[in-house]
Amino acid sequence: MKVYLDNNATTLVDPHVFEQMEPFFVQKYGNPNSLHLFASETHQPLKTAMEKIYAGIHAPREDSVVITSCATESNNWVFKSIYFEYILTGRKNHIIISEVEHPSIISGAKFLETLGCRVTYLPINKEGIIEASTVRDYITNKTALVSIMMANNETGAIFPVQEIGEICKEFNVLFHTDAVQAIGKIPLDVQSFNIDYLTFSAHKFHGPKGIGALYIKKGRELTPLFHGGSQMGGHRSGTLNVAGIVGMGKAMEQAIDSLDYEMCEIREMRDAFEDKLLKIKDTFVVTPREKRTPNTILISFRGIEGESMLWDLNRSGIGASTGSACASEDLEANSVMEAIGADDDLAHTAIRFSLSRYTTQEELDYTLGVVLEAVDRLRAISSSYAYAPEGHESGLDSHHH
Ligand code: PLP
Repeated sequence: MKVYLDNNATTLVDPHVFEQMEPFFVQKYGNPNSLHLFASETHQPLKTAMEKIYAGIHAPREDSVVITSCATESNNWVFKSIYFEYILTGRKNHIIISEVEHPSIISGAKFLETLGCRVTYLPINKEGIIEASTVRDYITNKTALVSIMMANNETGAIFPVQEIGEICKEFNVLFHTDAVQAIGKIPLDVQSFNIDYLTFSAHKFHGPKGIGALYIKKGRELTPLFHGGSQMGGHRSGTLNVAGIVGMGKAMEQAIDSLDYEMCEIREMRDAFEDKLLKIKDTFVVTPREKRTPNTILISFRGIEGESMLWDLNRSGIGASTGSACASEDLEANSVMEAIGADDDLAHTAIRFSLSRYTTQEELDYTLGVVLEAVDRLRAISSSYAYAPEGHESGLDSHHH
């Protein structure tokens, strides 16, 4: 059996999405900016797709949703533009992010540091969550931007973006949120949250890879990252990825349609699976489940290196992760676990299971069996676990486990 439980890394393309994209490769391949019938036949599908994308995040027509190649590009665009508009001109010199942002934010912030920008990395609490009040503590009159993700990719922890948005508004500071892990998992409305910029990426919600977007509130202009033609109103030049946009539109529509299923059925399946995993001795989960996206479990099995567990799962056809997709190739401690101050053993033993609306009960039952066997096998040969006394103190508060 093959089981895919790495949906926070990427998702399968929904067959209905693929079906809608297909004509735009071999049949309707015109460049939308050309002045002939080959171009015209792409116009209505593009318009429909854009309407679905706007509707999905509740963006009013006067705001912009600019199509990019991925969330990494959208995040980079915000940071580099902030540099050109505020830091380089000397108007402001400070940005605030969380210490558990995706590398496409953290690396962007580190790059700005080399250019003279001061960066505050907000800590997460014991539950793996940013407290909105900490944002207030660090904002100064030199703060150009606050960028805090809507949901964390590793733990699924949902951050108080609405409250943070209000604080930013109060201090007149721009607010960006990376909503990559939120779309299709929790309700999202750019109008009721005070959001100036919002990033998302189609491949995290059953759309194709290589297409993402940046929502920009009216009046919050950004210096383009790519200068070129007039595509996307000159905000982001380059021939439009027609198939990708059509695919992202359909994927957005499906994500919104299946939000209830995700928030009820998938949550129930996740919770039941997690309950069974937590019955295994010496297992720990950081963020309380009601404060998480419905599909994610980050769980530590004391005494078992995350990578060893991945190996055993992989041998049995199961794809999971130790956290961020980019970190899977080196034996690094899980960064969120480190950030909450978990001891080294726990930080190295985290495994992430991320479900999707395609996950079945049968797959989870099979996975549980494989995990149980792997835990027995790996703990029997684990030097760190063999010496751990029975019922020892965990490195974390255990009240919500
Ligand atoms: N932001 C978050 C929170 C993510 O989880 C990811 C993907 O891992 C990204 C950004 C990057 O997305 P993309 O692959 O579309 O650049």
